[in-house]
Amino acid sequence: MKAAVLEEFNKPLNVTDVPDPELTPDGAIVKVEACGICRSDWHGWRGEWTGFLAPLPMVGGHEMSGTVQEVGANVKHVKPGDRVIVPFTCGDGTCQYCQEGKSNECINQEMPGFTYHGGFAEYAHIPTADFNLIPLPDEIPFEQASGMGCRFMTAYHGVLSVGELKPGEWLSVYGSGGVGLSAIQIATAAGANVIAVDVNDAALEFAKNQGAVHTVNSAKDNPVEFIKDITGGGADVSVDALGLNQTIHNSLASVKATGRAVQIGMTPMGDDGQIPINVNDIIANEISYRGSFGMPRSEFPLLLNQVATGKLTPGQLVTETTSLGGIIDVYDKFTRNDIKGTTVITDFTK
Ligand SMILES: [Zn+2]
Ligand SMILES: [Zn+2]
Repeated sequence: MKAAVLEEFNKPLNVTDVPDPELTPDGAIVKVEACGICRSDWHGWRGEWTGFLAPLPMVGGHEMSGTVQEVGANVKHVKPGDRVIVPFTCGDGTCQYCQEGKSNECINQEMPGFTYHGGFAEYAHIPTADFNLIPLPDEIPFEQASGMGCRFMTAYHGVLSVGELKPGEWLSVYGSGGVGLSAIQIATAAGANVIAVDVNDAALEFAKNQGAVHTVNSAKDNPVEFIKDITGGGADVSVDALGLNQTIHNSLASVKATGRAVQIGMTPMGDDGQIPINVNDIIANEISYRGSFGMPRSEFPLLLNQVATGKLTPGQLVTETTSLGGIIDVYDKFTRNDIKGTTVITDFTK
C-alpha cells in the first residue's frame, strides 16, 4: 500500500509503497477514506513533545475516518463495511479510566501516528477495534468526519465538558486554527458568546463565519484588554488552543475572577511543558486552570447526534483536500503560520 512515512524529523516525508498492516485478534484493518492534517502532526513531524515522540519510521496521521476492511477473530461488534471514525485517543477498554467513561485518559493509551502507524496511508490497523472504532452515521461524509477524530472532538470535550460552558457565557478562544475554529462553532451552537484571538486576519474572518461575535488580532491589539473591555471584566471561560508562552498567559489573564481557563494546546519545542505562570493570580482570583485532552468515546453519541442533524458542521472547517504528497506543503504552512481552515487527505494513491 502507499503511505507517507516519517523517516527523519523535520525532513520531507517519503511517499512510498510499504507492506499492508497486519491484523491482530482484537484489531481491525480500516481503509482510510479521509485523514485530516493537524497541527499535532506538524509538532510530531518536527520531533517536538518529548513525551509523545514517535519511534521512527512512523506513518503519521491521527484524524481518520474510513471503512472497516477486515476484523480480528475476537472482534464482535465491528464488521467489514462499517463506516467508522478513529478517535486519536485510543483506549484499552479495560482499565479503570476506560471503564468509567474516561478513555481519553486510558493508562495504556495508543495514538495513531504516534504510538502506531496512522492514517497517512491507504490502510491502518486499529487496536482493540470494538472499543475504539466509532460508528459513523451515513449522513456524514468521510471528508467531514475525519476532523472528529481529533480537532473537533477535542474542542467539543474541552469547551463543553472540561470548560462547562453555559448559554450566554463569554468564551475567549486563543488560536483560530483547527481546534480554535471548532471551539468557536461548538460554543456558538451551545448559546455562548465567543471572542476569537489570532494573529492572522484571514483566520479571524473565518472565525467570524463560525460564529465569533468579536475578533481581535493580537499582533495589533492587546487581546486581554480587548476581552476585559467587551465582557466587562473578563470571559467566563477561555480556551488556549495554541500552547505558546504568550497565549497561555493571555488566556489565563482573559478570564474573570472565578473563571475557567482550559488548556488544550500543548507547548512547542524548547518549552517541553515548562511555562512559568503566576500562581498568586490564580489563587487570588480563584481561577480554575484545567487541562483537556482529546475526548472519551463516551461523549461521541452526543457529538454525532448534533452533527448528523446539522446543528454542528465540522465540514465547514475543511477548506482543501489533498494527497499524501501534499502533506509537506501543509506542514510548511504551519511553519509559516499561514493556515486558514483545515486540509484533508482524500487521495491516498500518490
Ligand atoms: Zn483504558
Ligand atoms: Zn490532531
